[in-house]
Amino acid sequence: PPILAIETSCDDTAAAVWADGRLASSVVAGQRVHEGFGGVVPEHASRAHERLIVPTIEAALAEAGLGMADLGAVAVTVGPGLAGSLLVGLSAAKGIALGRGLPLLGVNHLEGHVYSVMIEEPRPSLPFLCLTVSGGHTLLTLVREGFAHEELGRTRDDAAGEAFDKVAKLLGLPYPGGPHIDRLAAEGDAAFLDLPSPRLGPKGRRGDALFDLSFSGIKTAVRYWIADLPEADRVGIVERHRADVAASFQRVVVESLVEGVRQAVEETGVRAVAVVGGVSANSGLRRAVTEAGAADGFDVFVPDLQHSVDNAAMIAVTAAYKWAAGETSDLSVGATPSLAL
Ligand code: ATP
Ligand code: FE
Repeated sequence: PPILAIETSCDDTAAAVWADGRLASSVVAGQRVHEGFGGVVPEHASRAHERLIVPTIEAALAEAGLGMADLGAVAVTVGPGLAGSLLVGLSAAKGIALGRGLPLLGVNHLEGHVYSVMIEEPRPSLPFLCLTVSGGHTLLTLVREGFAHEELGRTRDDAAGEAFDKVAKLLGLPYPGGPHIDRLAAEGDAAFLDLPSPRLGPKGRRGDALFDLSFSGIKTAVRYWIADLPEADRVGIVERHRADVAASFQRVVVESLVEGVRQAVEETGVRAVAVVGGVSANSGLRRAVTEAGAADGFDVFVPDLQHSVDNAAMIAVTAAYKWAAGETSDLSVGATPSLAL
């Protein structure tokens, strides 16, 4: 029976329906209330979720050609995310589950990102390596049967998406900056700035962990480059070289991520790699990891562009796997803002 999934962990109100082993609908209502603030304002986000949640659910059901009475289960993101935002989705899901007598399936947002490569064919078979690169997380895991995630490493400070957004902000680009950097990087000179590699360890080859990264230094380097420019023409120089800085930044970030993945493939012998999360929408990263796979002989799985950034389809497919494995959640399940994978 069809599963309705609801996702409200951050600033997108999303709902999707999974039916007959495939995605029947997916709706994402982007909140346009954060643009002037350089980031997400939690209070604004939860208010916008309250306004958008019912129409978004109705749109997902309509797109699937189903009514509430056709549903077999309700899935919802329980964390990580903003507490006030998560609670809006959770309350809606519980209301439907209670009112219709349906089972409730609580889903971890990060597990949703991981399983976003299961929405469409071709799907990786387990185990696979998963690089999760999003706004709040950057980690490499080995995904096994039974929803087991073995961590091989992670960033020590900023997430990759956070680094994209912070560098974009330094360049005067709107939030979220990732897509803008991506677009500008295509027309810039990637050799313009010599930025420090985010990889830790001797010669950037090997840190303590197999996958050990730090993105804060690269953002600081861009900040210093700007601060050291002659004051009289600082704004002008930054504007003229936006694309060059974007290209230089994106190149070292992509290189460090792909190098980490290649090394993990070599050391684990696992020859299937998924790249998920908002930054997996990056065209440079998609291209580089695909090329690495072709050169080293591993298969690469990336979600459709619309399933890289936050969406409810990934929550729906994860819930389908959990439900098939006999897992459901208690109606008393709460929001866990700092939930880990
Ligand atoms: P998390 O999933 O860790 O809780 P989140 O849900 O806020 O965080 P996502 O929606 O998965 O994060 O990803 C958003 C991030 O992806 C933002 O930092 C955004 O800048 C980045 N991003 C989106 N598209 C691109 C792109 N084309 N290139 C680089 N970064 C991108
Ligand atoms: Fe996310």
